[in-house]
Formats: sequence, C-alpha cells, structure tokens
Amino acid sequence: MEVWLTTAVPLREFPMGPEPLARAEILHPPRRRSTVLALALSAALAAGALLALPPIAAVAGLPSAISLGESLRLPGAYLATAPISDLLDTLTLLTPGQHGAIFAWALAAFLAWRALRWRRGPARSWRALARETVLLALFLVAYAGFYVLGLLVPRPMAALALRDADALAVDVHSHTAASHDGRRGYDAEANRRWHAAAGFAAAYVTDHVDFSGAEAGMARNPARAGDGTVLLPGIESALPGAHVMVLGARRAMGVDHDGALDVARIDSARGLITVLAFPARLGSVPPRLALDAVEGSDGAPRGLRFTRKHVVQIRDFAAAHHLVRVAGSNNHGWGRTAAAWTVLRIPGWRAMTPDSLDAAIRTTLRRGVGARVVLRAVVAPPASNALWIATPVLVAWDMLRRLSTSERLVWLVWIWGLVGLRALWRRRAASPNASAAGPASRFPPPGRTVPLRGRWGPRRRYAAP
Ligand SMILES: [Zn+2]
Repeated sequence: MEVWLTTAVPLREFPMGPEPLARAEILHPPRRRSTVLALALSAALAAGALLALPPIAAVAGLPSAISLGESLRLPGAYLATAPISDLLDTLTLLTPGQHGAIFAWALAAFLAWRALRWRRGPARSWRALARETVLLALFLVAYAGFYVLGLLVPRPMAALALRDADALAVDVHSHTAASHDGRRGYDAEANRRWHAAAGFAAAYVTDHVDFSGAEAGMARNPARAGDGTVLLPGIESALPGAHVMVLGARRAMGVDHDGALDVARIDSARGLITVLAFPARLGSVPPRLALDAVEGSDGAPRGLRFTRKHVVQIRDFAAAHHLVRVAGSNNHGWGRTAAAWTVLRIPGWRAMTPDSLDAAIRTTLRRGVGARVVLRAVVAPPASNALWIATPVLVAWDMLRRLSTSERLVWLVWIWGLVGLRALWRRRAASPNASAAGPASRFPPPGRTVPLRGRWGPRRRYAAP
C-alpha cells in the first residue's frame, strides 16, 4: 500500500480540485503503459526468434550466400548499441517509397494523438494552440534528427566476414568529395575507412568527371593488398540513358570527357571493365557499348528501389547479354550501412600489390564466373498498394526476425533497463516526505503549474487542496 502511495501514482494523477484521490484510485493505480509496451516488444522479439531469418542473402539466381560461409560480423560497439544500430541500418536500407510510407504513418499517429488530447483538454486558448504548434515542430525536428544521426554520425558498422582466406569483398562503385555529388570532407581516406569498417578488401573510386579522389586513394594504399583496404581507380561516366562505371580507368586514358563516356576508347584489349549502374530503363541501354557487368544491387536509395523492384528483369538482362552481376555501394559519404558486397575468389590476393589485385579483379569479372552478390537481407517492396499501407509493420517485423541472438539479448537489456530507469525516476520524483505524511503530501506546492493529462497534456495552475 505504502509503496503505491510513494512511487507508483504517476504525476498525471494529481487531482486538480481540493479532493484527495479516492481510496479506490490509490489502491488500483492506472496500468503502466511503459510496462505494457515493454512486454509487447519482448513478445515480438521472442516471436522473431521463433521465425528467424538470416541477416544476409544472395541476390536472386546466384548460389546461396549462407551455404558458402559468408556471415555478418557485428563489432562489440555495434552490439552494445544494438537497438540504435539496427534501427539506423534498417532506415538506411529503405527505398524512397518506404521512407515516405513510414513518415506518413508517424505523422498521422502523432497528429491523431494530439487531436485526441485536444478534444479532451478543457482549455482551447491561443496559448494551447501555440503549444501544439511547438510540439509539432519538435516532432518534425526529432524525426529529421534521427535521419541526421543515421547519415552523418560515425558509428560502428556491420561487416561481411568471409571464412575462405582466398575470398574477398569488392565494391565496384563509390565516390569521394572530388565527385560533384560527394559529401564535402568525404575524402579518399574517409572512403577507405567506410569500406574497411564494412568488410571490403577493395573498392573502386568511381567519381564523376574527376580522377583526383581515386588518385589520392591509390597513393596511400598498403604495399600488400592483405594489409588493409585498397582503393582502386575508375570513373563513372554517362551515355544517353545509362551510367557506366569503368573499372581500371585512369586520367591518362581519356575515356571520359566531362562526364560523357568515349565508347571508342573503351577497348576490351585494355582490360577495362564496364559496369552498367542501376539502369532506370534496361531497354534504353545503347547497344554500341560492350558491357561486362551490371549492378545487381546499388546502395543509393533510388538504386535500392530499382535493383529490388526489377531483380528478375536484371537477372534476365544479365543472362541475355552475358553480364556478370556485381554490387555497388554508390556511397557518396552518407550513412554507415553497406547494402551489398561483390564476393570474388582470387587465390593469393593477400600477397598481391594493389595494381596486380586490380588486374586480377578485372580478369575475374571478365571471366564472369564465381562472382557472387551478397546482400543485407531486407523485406521485399510490397507487391500491392494495399500492402504499402502496412509498410511500418512489415519493415519492423522483418528487422526483428533478422536479429542475432546476441542482438536480441541486448534489445531486452535496453528495453527492461529503460523501464527500470523510468520507475526509479518516478520514485525520485515523488515528494521525499510522501511516505511519512500520507496521501495529502503527494500534491505539488500550491501555485505550481502541473500537467492535466500526462506530461504533454494541457497544463493548469494547481490549487491547494
Ligand atoms: Zn555513382
């Protein structure tokens, strides 16, 4: 009884009139919403464990990734912050349509919550309206803040781990600040750190128009490829209707003229590899260009949408034109999540110089055998408009199914730790002499402004009992 009096009666239960709480209200405190929410989340985590899915997958039509020994390696700091890491990774892997659907839901839920409060609240003054406006602005700032956190703040990354010492993960499409669309300050070394944290052994720097990012990266490569992530030269160039990465291209070759590809200079004898970037219209690819590869996954939001939506068309296009499917992060310096890796097997690559590794990667891609695309597995885009409405539920449920056991345990520690902290905070917030003085001392000092309904509800000056 005394415990409820001192700790469990939430602030919002302060009566506004002179009457103290009814005995029944004291004996039966309102149900703790935070506990109910924590129980529901714990149940969802347990259900996700029963129906668990792997966190990585092979792109359709290629050998299964899991059976070949690839796994996702989560560093300790990633695990310790699993709820934040998992949510930000999931957010980064969404397509533009999924972002829109989740924002629409979040905004609708917020507005419905405030409208309900508004209807119940007694005061409908200008002041109350101003308060609602401020709360809406705070909601939008917090929502945008979560995106800024995901896009800009350095955080531990999930990396691809390979059991086979002769296997390596390669990125065929990445950018630096030298590209007109690269993030300012995202230089070659930042690009290298991003790729190293995601488990890439090599990454082609394929800026638009400019070779300086790739050159700066090559200048600081380790002597042996096995001693650190190597950056390799390339360019992203345009044709009408298509963007093409040319792997192995260097400034002196003159294959790019202000962003336009010089097809005549792309000679297979030079050993350059041409990769079709995620093509918005597969039918519009110029037939005069001899392609070697096509992106089966592209990590930019528009690329994620295209390569997921048209996975079958890309597979058929690759088969019809004898192209190898590869993965490009298309990273411009935003976010800390790799969406996919191109996995190759090159015996002895660790002892090679960066230049000979570049040549070996291009030879392997030209032969077109043994290249695999391993993806961070995510829920497929809904097939129907009706299912788009369920996007937040589908995305959240898919994320919970793909957690490892360690991540699940950390989620539980966070959830119940927060519930415990909240209870502790409430105990502290209760008046220190409450237990000695009885129910009356639970009231705040006369004249103090107290919330009427919940912390964010309308407020009223408290009259002494
Ligand atoms: Zn690009």
